Amino acid sequence: MTVESLPLTRVRETTVDVVVVGSGTGLAAALAAQDAGLEALVIEKTEYVGGSTSLSGGAFWIPANPILEAEGAHDTLERASRYIESLVDGAVPEERWRSFLDHGEATVELLRRATPLKFSWAREYADYHPERPGGSASGRSCESRPFNVKRLGAERDRLRPSGMAAPIPMPITGADYRWMNLMVRTPRRSRRSPRG
Ligand SMILES: Cc1cc2nc3c(=O)[nH]c(=O)nc-3n(C[C@H](O)[C@H](O)[C@H](O)COP(=O)(O)OP(=O)(O)OC[C@H]3O[C@@H](n4cnc5c(N)ncnc54)[C@H](O)[C@@H]3O)c2cc1C
Repeated sequence: MTVESLPLTRVRETTVDVVVVGSGTGLAAALAAQDAGLEALVIEKTEYVGGSTSLSGGAFWIPANPILEAEGAHDTLERASRYIESLVDGAVPEERWRSFLDHGEATVELLRRATPLKFSWAREYADYHPERPGGSASGRSCESRPFNVKRLGAERDRLRPSGMAAPIPMPITGADYRWMNLMVRTPRRSRRSPRG
């Protein structure tokens, strides 16, 4: 994949297939366009790439995806449908959330194909409402394993700085964070060290 930064003057003269406004989750749209053989241009108003997405935990909640399957979560689209249906309770058109479910697997495959990220299941990062029909206490969130940002080379300086920088370089996943949160409540658990 070719990524090129264009000065504003060249942007005005450029013709592409897809224009994405905003470099947060919009980058996934640009990836999808490129994956489909289209040329995409991402326009970002700030000096940084990433928006609030780059400050986030980076977990994605995509039911019954291939990562969950491979790691033994035993999730199904049918179970996830019951969960979403009970949560949205008619507030969202059914075709919209069904489309979200139907395209989940392809989305995860795209992210695996088009990025160097390695994803895993944030096991026991429960659904926000596990008590609802179809809800899961083991959770359905997946996240990237620690990624060495040095691989971004010169582009690294354009990544929006994290608001939660650790005093020492220490990769922490969402799954680790759950245990760190429990440290003050269950001291015995604090002896379990975060996985790197
Ligand atoms: C601490 C924290 C943790 C979170 N953790 C998670 C999580 O683990 N999983 C999850 O799913 N969600 C999480 N979220 C929520 C998630 O981060 C947001 O829902 C998501 O990032 C929003 O993406 P976005 O693309 O809409 O916006 P953004 O990521 O903010 O991207 C919008 C971009 O568009 C640019 N822009 C705006 N207007 C223009 C314009 N006119 N022209 C050009 N560019 C423009 C902005 O500068 C910005 O870069 C978290 C949020 C926070 C704050």
